[in-house]
Amino acid sequence: MTVDKRVLLSLVVPVYNEAVSIEPFLARALPALDQACRQVGPGAGFEILFVDDGSSDATPAVLLAARERVPQIEIVGLSRNFGKEAALAAGLRHAAGRAVIPIDIDLQDPPEVIPEMVAKWFAGAVIVNGVRCDRTSDSFVKKLTARSFYGIYNLMADRRISAEIGDFRLLDRKVVDILNQLPERSRFTKGLFPWLGFAQDEVRFVRQPRAAGTSKWRYWRLWNLALDGLTGSTTAPLRVWTYIGFTVASLAFLFGLALVAVTLVSGNPTPGYPSLMATILFLGGLNLLSLGIMGEYVGRIAAEVRGRPLYVIDRVTGAPEPDTEQGD
Ligand code: UDP
Ligand code: MG
Repeated sequence: MTVDKRVLLSLVVPVYNEAVSIEPFLARALPALDQACRQVGPGAGFEILFVDDGSSDATPAVLLAARERVPQIEIVGLSRNFGKEAALAAGLRHAAGRAVIPIDIDLQDPPEVIPEMVAKWFAGAVIVNGVRCDRTSDSFVKKLTARSFYGIYNLMADRRISAEIGDFRLLDRKVVDILNQLPERSRFTKGLFPWLGFAQDEVRFVRQPRAAGTSKWRYWRLWNLALDGLTGSTTAPLRVWTYIGFTVASLAFLFGLALVAVTLVSGNPTPGYPSLMATILFLGGLNLLSLGIMGEYVGRIAAEVRGRPLYVIDRVTGAPEPDTEQGD
């Protein structure tokens, strides 16, 4: 791969009320980026794209001040707080680099592993995942909720995701272009990568405690993200009702038969009870069954609305390629 004059690396950093974290972040990110670009060769440049997610503290001013010193800084300011997923999506769209690395500003993802990511990218990986090999810095509740979420998610979703992979990863330009084209609204970016495929590699690191400031996640938000994740990646919750309904209706039918048999043999101590019970259970089951059938259709509508492409092409060998890229 040869390097042209364009930006090689884009660091995408969502920030929400992080005024105190910006300087410590730059102090560690800049040397790491310098090293990554130097190992690639002369002419390789980087940009740091901050997405200000509607901060209400001094974040915009601190960013502007930092930009005076570091011309590679670019700032995209959102009109209000849209949440990290939306901020990341905005960042991916604006990033110009041949590779894009989303990273948290709180230094929980160490910037020092960026050169290693770039090396693996040059070795042929299209996505280089940052894998945190230990979560000891996270609180007990965070670990517990995270573990239960991934447990449930992996049970239901079509493709598993790893609890050890966060948002810190290197994405080749072709992946970024595909992500930018996906029309889905409620995003759970993490769940998209297993679907995407491509040659993926990983870099291991230890997740650090937050360097400065406080975590911006409220559990309510995480809960909503978890719901987005589940409903965005699987229609299993819609479809189970078909089976539950079918089971309940069948059991009710059998129960009704049994009641009739018992009544015929040993008489009926409570008039009306057998027929009432059998009717209630049977209709309940029928209700669930019809909900399940609705669910099957709603699930298909959801998949259509998500509008993901049927397939993603990695490369074409032999046929003349459309003239979209030079340099590889
Ligand atoms: N963040 C954001 N918008 C939000 C919440 C968080 O852009 O509404 C950013 C935040 O500034 C940080 C990153 O997302 O750079 C991760 O946030 P945080 O460290 O608070 O999350 P945690 O590490 O606790 O999951
Ligand atoms: Mg954090």
